[in-house]
Amino acid sequence: MMAEHADDLPLSPQTLLVHAGTRRSGFDETSEALYLTSGFVYGTAEEAEHAFANEGVRFVYSRFRNPTVAMFEDRLATYEGYERCFATASGMAAVHGAVMGLLKAGDRIVASRALFGSCLYVVNDIAPRFGVETVLVDGTKPEEWEAALSKPATLVFLETPSNPCLDLVDLEHVTALAHKAGALVVVDNVFGTPVLQKPKRFGVDVVVYSATKHIDGQGRCLGGAILCNNEVAAKLSPYLRHTGPTISPFNAWVLLKGMETLELRVRAQTASALAVAQALEAHPAVARVLYPGLPSHPQHELAQRQMLAGSTLVCFDVKAPEGQGKAAAFAVENALKVITISNNLGDSKSLITHPATTTHQRLTDAERATLGISPATLRLSVGLEDPADLVADLRQALDALGR
Ligand SMILES: *Cc1c(COP(=O)(O)O)cnc(C)c1O
Repeated sequence: MMAEHADDLPLSPQTLLVHAGTRRSGFDETSEALYLTSGFVYGTAEEAEHAFANEGVRFVYSRFRNPTVAMFEDRLATYEGYERCFATASGMAAVHGAVMGLLKAGDRIVASRALFGSCLYVVNDIAPRFGVETVLVDGTKPEEWEAALSKPATLVFLETPSNPCLDLVDLEHVTALAHKAGALVVVDNVFGTPVLQKPKRFGVDVVVYSATKHIDGQGRCLGGAILCNNEVAAKLSPYLRHTGPTISPFNAWVLLKGMETLELRVRAQTASALAVAQALEAHPAVARVLYPGLPSHPQHELAQRQMLAGSTLVCFDVKAPEGQGKAAAFAVENALKVITISNNLGDSKSLITHPATTTHQRLTDAERATLGISPATLRLSVGLEDPADLVADLRQALDALGR
């Protein structure tokens, strides 16, 4: 719900991030109010009866809806152009709710293999326990999607760009194939961010977020979101209401305020990430840089078609003699002074991680190799520091390798 005076003005996305969804209380506050309440009271028994007979007419219980959470949901849905948003306690609650809420025994999921570890667990371990068939494909290969979707399917699940190697999936092509096979398409848009990639434009049915990442953007709290149209929402709503992945009003309030600066932060971080990627590519101690905004990225043409800019993440391999990739990558991490070691991402602080020993530790060497992760691979999440300081920090750490 927009401020009343703005109803008939077409507003730009940045303005929506500041105003959309605002519901003022009777106290006329400027900043969105935080409603830390689990329940709501009724003036009469008849009012309570009416509220339970007519879902959505008012707030009845914060597991279902809460005014602060509703402001966050409406702001994100308006920005993304979807009819509905369900906020959740974490990104994984969003992924689990969207996937399990839409499936039943006998259904078939086709998913890209390059997924965030916990997402892979949901589609490849949990779903099959309930009689769902899961087929994994190399998301970068159109022919693998074509083969897997030549048979009917219920759901397609994918992540683009992927973690950590920033592989892309062609959203337009896969969505067309999925719809022909009768499947709904669910996209984990965390690495794309709401700013740089708009899955709705390619016909994607459901978008899921870890709001823990760029939407908060300041490393403070967990949160997630599911975006979809009313038809899909009608299927998901009972599952979500009765299983309770609900976000706390406090976290929703933090995310709501985070959205006001989302575009400014992501644009600045993406510009810095490009500068960092270029500097890394020019450094003699770097063997490979993967960044969708660089012409050297194997899918740069696709990145230009479906993303507004590269990403806030950069993936690179340190140059090292055979068998010394891990030692070289660790030496670079340990020599950094501004960039800190953390497996989180999308923060205002630049964070670096060694996927092979952290986020992807549980995979075998062969599985890591399939995903493009070598012992020398590092994933950098670029923050809001001055990019010149980040480049200088990486340079001194990489220069020290040769000594
Ligand atoms: C972090 C992340 C998730 C999970 O989100 P949480 O908020 O940690 O539960 C899912 N997908 C991707 C791509 C992520 O980066």
